[in-house]
Amino acid sequence: MRFKRVKGTRDILPGEALARRELEQMVYEKFSRAGFLPILTPTFEAYELYQRSTGQASDIVIKEMYRFADMGGRDLALRPEATPSVMRAVLENHLKIPIRLWYAMTMFRQDKPQKGRYREHTQIGAEIVGEAEPEADIELVKLGYDLFTDMGIKGMYLELNTIGCRKCRPGYTEKLVEFLKEHQEELCSDCKVRMKRNPLRVFDCKVKSCQAVLKNAPSQREYLCEDCKLHFDQVKRGLEGFSIPYQENDRLVRGLDYYSRTVVEFKSRLLGAQDTLCGGGRYDYLAEELGGPPTPATGFAFGVERALLVSKGEEVFDFTQSPIPLLLLPLGDEARGYSLRLLFKLRDAGISVQAEFRPGGLSRKLKHADARNAERVLIVGEDEIAKARFILRDMKTGEQSKVTIEEVQSIPELKIHPPLLTSGED
Ligand code: AMP
Repeated sequence: MRFKRVKGTRDILPGEALARRELEQMVYEKFSRAGFLPILTPTFEAYELYQRSTGQASDIVIKEMYRFADMGGRDLALRPEATPSVMRAVLENHLKIPIRLWYAMTMFRQDKPQKGRYREHTQIGAEIVGEAEPEADIELVKLGYDLFTDMGIKGMYLELNTIGCRKCRPGYTEKLVEFLKEHQEELCSDCKVRMKRNPLRVFDCKVKSCQAVLKNAPSQREYLCEDCKLHFDQVKRGLEGFSIPYQENDRLVRGLDYYSRTVVEFKSRLLGAQDTLCGGGRYDYLAEELGGPPTPATGFAFGVERALLVSKGEEVFDFTQSPIPLLLLPLGDEARGYSLRLLFKLRDAGISVQAEFRPGGLSRKLKHADARNAERVLIVGEDEIAKARFILRDMKTGEQSKVTIEEVQSIPELKIHPPLLTSGED
């Protein structure tokens, strides 16, 4: 029986896997300089963690979570997003705050699969825990903006909003509910539930008739308290100071409960229906929701699949063409054992090398070498071993020369970094 992958999952083949390594390396370098430390949290957690933080009225919790009971009867869920896990980890491990953390982890959501939306996807995110100041929001947006610009994300734009705080949001919510009640008949059934459980969420609704109603809904902007107004103005001024273009969108609320004040989304016109590349914002109340002390925090996360779609398109690296800098061609049994040892000696000296152990004489092995895209081959016969001099052949030009192992080790072209991994030395 031949198996197929589960609906909504993907095989990440070497070409894309290499592109991801390259992206992660870039993020690692940039975020490290800004003081972010890497963190990894478990792939599954107590279901209640997400229910409490992501929110009972969110699509993620209602419709999309992979929820299951383990053999001990524990109520668990596969991680649908990382922020609650990161905050839990900060509290549980008593990490000293302020602290800056970043992660690259897989998320699981049982949504309808389509281009740019999968049931398992990877997010790279950054969280600043313990900083309430607008500078933290500005720093994060600037970090994201620079990263996406360097990645060559096409058609990018940034949307910005504030959703107020505990002081001013209730007054606004009351007005919004009044408005929604007046238009109840025109709302979809989901929005009727949202209206009761978390009214702000109606702005996430994709149904056209709801969108039409919401055009005339009151704006949070008119109900902000002085502190929230000031915070928002400072964030905007900070972005302008960096010449980062943004659009204010007072309908941007983000689908999650724990946000407060600043909300941001980076989008790309090239992404089609799933146009959000990166979402984030401030979540000053999450720590308390999880039983911790009041802890201001802000963060963002972007989808790796979507980021690659709009930077590299379908043309990730063609791994089938990746060259072999040096291929050993052992001839005879003694040469096989010798070559096996030689592989490791050369690799220890920094050489990228493989060997062709399939049976056959020289001409057959040269054909294999050609098919495998070898750039150079080293012919290892018994005679060569006895004399400690080997034939090195350039597969493109056909040029041959007799060399010692020491001479092979000093050929700079054979000292190749792991493919496509940029490092400080380059
Ligand atoms: P969210 O937690 O919904 O704000 O998601 C953060 C980012 O992850 C989004 O902006 C997307 O780039 C990406 N993302 C979210 N859900 C999916 C999904 N189902 N498939 C692929 N990428 C996703």
